[in-house]
Amino acid sequence: MAAQETVDHKYVYDFAEGNKDLKDLLGGKGANLAEMTNLGLPVPPGFTITTEACKAYLATGREPDGLAGQIEAHLESLERGMGRRLGDPHDPLLVSVRSGAKFSMPGMMETVLNVGLNDRSVVGLAAQAGGNERFAWDSYRRLIQMFGKTVCEVPGEEFEHALDEAKRARGTTSDLDLDADDLRGLVDAYKKIFLKHTGRDFPQEPREQLDLAIRAVFESWNAERAVLYRRQERIPADLGTAVNVVAMVFGNLGPDSGTGVAFTRDPASGAQGIYGDYLANAQGEDVVAGIRNTVPLQDLERLDKRSYDELLGIMARLEGHYRDLCDIEFTIERGKLWMLQTRVGKRTAAAAFVIAGQLVDEGLIDLDEALHRVNGAQLAQLMFPRFQLDHDFESVAKGVGASPGAASGKVVFTSARAVELAAEGEAVILVRRETNPDDLNGMIAAKGILTSRGGKTSHAAVVARGMGKTCVSGADEIDVNVPAKRFSVAGQTVSEGDVVSIDGTTGKVYLGEVPVMPSEVVRYFEGTLDPDEADDALVRAVHRIMTHADAARRLAVRANADTGEDAARARRFGAQGIGLCRTEHMFLGDRRELVERLILTRTDTERSDALAALLPLQRDDFVEIFREMDGLPVTVRLIDPPLHEFLPPLEQLAVDVAVAQERGEDVAKEEALLAAVRRMHEENPMLGLRGVRLGLVIPGLFAMQVRAIAEAAVRVTREGGSACPEIMVPLVGAVQELETVRAEAEKIIAEVVGDSGVEVLIGTMIEVPRAALTAGQIAEAAQFFSFGTNDLTQMGWGFSRDDVEGAFFWRYLELGIFGISPFESIDRDGVGRLVRIAAEEGRAARPELKLGVCGEHGGDPESVHFFHSVGLDYVSCSPFRVPVARLEAGRAAVETVGSDSR
Ligand code: ADP
Ligand code: MG
Ligand code: MG
Repeated sequence: MAAQETVDHKYVYDFAEGNKDLKDLLGGKGANLAEMTNLGLPVPPGFTITTEACKAYLATGREPDGLAGQIEAHLESLERGMGRRLGDPHDPLLVSVRSGAKFSMPGMMETVLNVGLNDRSVVGLAAQAGGNERFAWDSYRRLIQMFGKTVCEVPGEEFEHALDEAKRARGTTSDLDLDADDLRGLVDAYKKIFLKHTGRDFPQEPREQLDLAIRAVFESWNAERAVLYRRQERIPADLGTAVNVVAMVFGNLGPDSGTGVAFTRDPASGAQGIYGDYLANAQGEDVVAGIRNTVPLQDLERLDKRSYDELLGIMARLEGHYRDLCDIEFTIERGKLWMLQTRVGKRTAAAAFVIAGQLVDEGLIDLDEALHRVNGAQLAQLMFPRFQLDHDFESVAKGVGASPGAASGKVVFTSARAVELAAEGEAVILVRRETNPDDLNGMIAAKGILTSRGGKTSHAAVVARGMGKTCVSGADEIDVNVPAKRFSVAGQTVSEGDVVSIDGTTGKVYLGEVPVMPSEVVRYFEGTLDPDEADDALVRAVHRIMTHADAARRLAVRANADTGEDAARARRFGAQGIGLCRTEHMFLGDRRELVERLILTRTDTERSDALAALLPLQRDDFVEIFREMDGLPVTVRLIDPPLHEFLPPLEQLAVDVAVAQERGEDVAKEEALLAAVRRMHEENPMLGLRGVRLGLVIPGLFAMQVRAIAEAAVRVTREGGSACPEIMVPLVGAVQELETVRAEAEKIIAEVVGDSGVEVLIGTMIEVPRAALTAGQIAEAAQFFSFGTNDLTQMGWGFSRDDVEGAFFWRYLELGIFGISPFESIDRDGVGRLVRIAAEEGRAARPELKLGVCGEHGGDPESVHFFHSVGLDYVSCSPFRVPVARLEAGRAAVETVGSDSR
């Protein structure tokens, strides 16, 4: 072949030279066209120009050296094989010029059909087609339309208007009724449009058409919509697209011709069967463009049984070959079937599980590979209730889908009202401008949370995700007026008690009640749906794949749970312990008063009295949790947030005091509180008096908590249970901090535990960068490390978690400084490196050191893979994420199977 005679880099591959594994170089479409060619399937001949040629073109603004010659050589050999020459006036070869990147980007890039037609070859084409002039002029008008639109940026509507006009003149609505004369006239109209917009005549030289079309495909890689799509789908920006030049076959030659698309299984449910659409007497893009009504693929059996049977045979063969659901594009030219595209098909989350299960049954893949055919994001999707949107529900606003799910309920504006109505059995949606820690009870009581401010890492979003509660945040079209108990949106007013529905997946807000369907998969995880009895293919598939993931994984999965109820749920979802039990929730609600007392104490006795009052309450909380987690480890974190978070906000107190003074009431206590709040005010509370610092500064605080934990453990063990507490000290940066706390704790534990047989471990969070960097020293005093990756990210980057997302993350994402918020998925290079260092140095100092992670990242699929690779023992995440983490830990353990999950 001529291309091989040159010394140039190889930029062009004949279909016979490629295969499906060359997607990087040939793009998905090109690689699969080559694969089908080599399988002996009927693919029109053609060649692929590589992504490297595209990248070179985009870098320099011109075709790389040697490309033109290689195209020429491949074109000649294509012409020889077909016995026709491109654009020959008597017997023209026509080609399509088709984009095709490594990852499919549907509708994002360009394709031009019928390249090679001009005023002279259109006549030859008609003659060749047995005098079918209509067909020839139809093909020509399509070329001008596609070429004009995609290569020369002529507005597509202009062509569509002209087409509509021609149909109107004919008194028809179907393009099939246009005859050769109509289409000839349309070609003239199209040419005028082309000239008007480009200032030149439609190019008549076939090779110029080809070169311009190839260039346009290269350039389409950087079209704005393609850039946006890639960013959204996290497809790298530097891959480039390949260009496929394919001999045309014609589906628009008459009623015995046509074009269609098909799936080898139902991409929505995974069910086996024949799924597809067919359109007679049409060219490719008509099927999806919805120009005419397609017929179900099954009808092809009646129209053209031979092609139908052949197609089904090919589909079965492709499935067997790719060992997966395939989607295909085909054309029939006068009873002859041609395959124009195949790829492993996109599918819904449910179909992904069902198909993976079926393929195992069919012996096409093993369970390890089935694990790679699904992922945690899909599982998470299946766990949320969904709206049944079969009626016409119109959303009134759209915010950020902050925590997925679907919830309907009565609107309330305060936490107190939420709790009240929920207690009466009402479903409520808590609506706020933004939430703060005081809204916690309301958030717990509500079915869903809607805010008009804040993004995916706002308080509302983070807390809701932790609870597995539906949340739409930052719906800025709604104007919330809390004092007036109403919000307005789209010209309407919604008052307390009115019903709204929010979709935490799409971020959409609806007025009124949209019916909700519960998730079968959750019923299965909760144990109320037996997979062997379920006639639900999805539940059976999930069960099978989860069982395999559990058997395969090395990472244990624990849950973050603060109450007995959460603990019980976590356990049903498969948690193997609690990795983070926060104790600050135990200081809220009606216990607030005790905390206020603690803060206001002047003397040691007063303080120990206040603490003594808290002790039994905390102990009871722990008893409940230890009972639920019988036999499993429970990591309890000593109190972490700054104490002033438990006091009312400064402004509110100041107003209350002023008002009460005005009325002449006794305000001694309020004044003292106000003074305390002023005294304790911090400019940077996140970096202030919190965590272990609090324990070192306020005598008896940690001691009380340690005692409550130990006493609870002893009680549960005496009852015949088995409590395995692990006490975790937050915010440690230096080993001395831990040593001090530990010395006191050990004394108390020894005294309480006695000979009960209870064993209490003491360890620390690694969440301050200094702790990670001195992990070798800290491990001397710690029996376990738990990485607090939220704070580690916050302090590692110097990002105030509560502020940065709304302030500038959008810009950072836009600039590509990071592809995803480091609070959502662990930053492997930086924060991840701290984790790796601490794990290695900690284990070097103490080989039996237990290593885990708590915090949002523990339930993030990408991060789970990272923690597996670093060698941690477990991840801990919110109960609702536990199945996701189990699945991803299983996938991480069988990572060796090469498969592209995208
Ligand atoms: P997309 O990537 O948007 O699917 P394609 O390159 O697959 O674009 O082209 C769209 C349609 O054009 C194809 O589905 C097919 O029906 C038609 N098509 C492309 N090349 C040819 C060809 N050589 N002969 C006939 N039809 C073609
Ligand atoms: Mg296609
Ligand atoms: Mg922390």
